[in-house]
Amino acid sequence: NLSERLERSFKILKGEGKITEINVAETLKDVRRALLDADVNYKVAKTFTDKVKQKALGMNVLTAVKPGQMMVKLVHDELAELMGGESVGLKLEGRPAIILMSGLQGSGKTTFSGKLANMLKKKQHKNPLLVACDVYRPAAIEQLKVVGGQIEIPVYSEPESKNVIGIAQNAIKEAKAKGNDVVIIDTAGRLAVDEEMMNEIEALKNAVNPDETLFVVDSMTGQDAVNTAKEFNDRLDFDGVVLTKLDGDTRGGAAISIRTVVTKPIKFVGTGEKMEAIDVFHPSRMADRILGMGDIVSLVERAQEQFDEEEAKRLQKKIQKNKFDFNDFLGQIQQIKKMGNIKDLASMIPGVGKAIKDVDIDDNAFKGIEAIILSMTPKERTNPEILNTSRRQRIAKGSGTTVQDVNRLIKQFDQTRKMMKMVTGSRMSQMMGAMKG
Ligand code: GDP
Ligand code: MG
Repeated sequence: NLSERLERSFKILKGEGKITEINVAETLKDVRRALLDADVNYKVAKTFTDKVKQKALGMNVLTAVKPGQMMVKLVHDELAELMGGESVGLKLEGRPAIILMSGLQGSGKTTFSGKLANMLKKKQHKNPLLVACDVYRPAAIEQLKVVGGQIEIPVYSEPESKNVIGIAQNAIKEAKAKGNDVVIIDTAGRLAVDEEMMNEIEALKNAVNPDETLFVVDSMTGQDAVNTAKEFNDRLDFDGVVLTKLDGDTRGGAAISIRTVVTKPIKFVGTGEKMEAIDVFHPSRMADRILGMGDIVSLVERAQEQFDEEEAKRLQKKIQKNKFDFNDFLGQIQQIKKMGNIKDLASMIPGVGKAIKDVDIDDNAFKGIEAIILSMTPKERTNPEILNTSRRQRIAKGSGTTVQDVNRLIKQFDQTRKMMKMVTGSRMSQMMGAMKG
């Protein structure tokens, strides 16, 4: 399996002191092979490993972790990014909101319709109506009714009708009359993509104009899942993917390939036959799962914090020698921005938190400052003393600010420098520690 393969290939890197072109190439060959084995599309795997390689070679080797572990973190983050980075929710704006299921027979549409209805009812206090538009198999309507019964959600059906558009439209009318705010339409699939099925689901989509068209796919079907996704997407331009049967022998590769090939978010995963076996799709967790190494990821994260501490020590030395310059200043700003919301961070500093509660600070506050520093020449940044009037005028023009803004920043910088010299080393690192929480 993929995670074991990666683990093994990363082991080779362990013990090596540096990330070099040679050991990266070796490892990534294994990563690529592992991805291919997990049904990741060839082109996707190639693009992925090329990107990881570039990033790996440009990476600072942290003293506290082995290069192999850094590679795991890098591959993890890139995998998560490849799967969309953030999780994407449902857009349910219509009154009622309409969700249309699509996918092959056996992919899990009927089961997922029930799971989703149950989740919306329990977590978002919705009042869903399930609609049986699989009119070809006699047992299909009965199956949806059984599901609805389990979760106490009404099911709309017309056992005598074969007109799916008519059924869906009548169901929407009924939802409006009875106050159901979400309508979930379960449809018929075929064993393979065929023209008749595609025509029907496409016509149904055009007729009811759903808020969300979801494509349901069995994650165990590997590369076929990708091809099917592409065919459905070409016809339906669906809004999101539901990956079912992730409880089985997981093929994480399907998630990666589908996301890349159709560029639509995976929104939910199914992890069992029970109505509760549904999860919102989290790219980072999926990457964890594919790699199977959550603990290494957090280890590297901690090491990165440590790296920041070493940087802080280096700065302290500079400050003590009064050598703190605009480059350091800029670096600090970028560091703070990287750590997240400024106000949240500032509020963690002992004694400061309460005081700034109602003060307006946001990340944009640094924009002007950065622009000014970036408009300085390298020489000006390291030797702020040389910033005379004409230089200040040039910097103001270059940064789109005023001379007053530049003067203010230089004054602030001078004050900061003085203040920093007064703060003892230990207080300084205490403060940095507190800021990181
Ligand atoms: P449909 O034909 O697309 O409506 O698919 P069904 O909802 O009838 O599901 C087909 C089969 O897969 C049923 O036996 C389900 O119980 C099973 N199934 C659906 N989702 C999952 C899942 O996430 N995990 C597992 N293990 N089985 C599932
Ligand atoms: Mg079904």
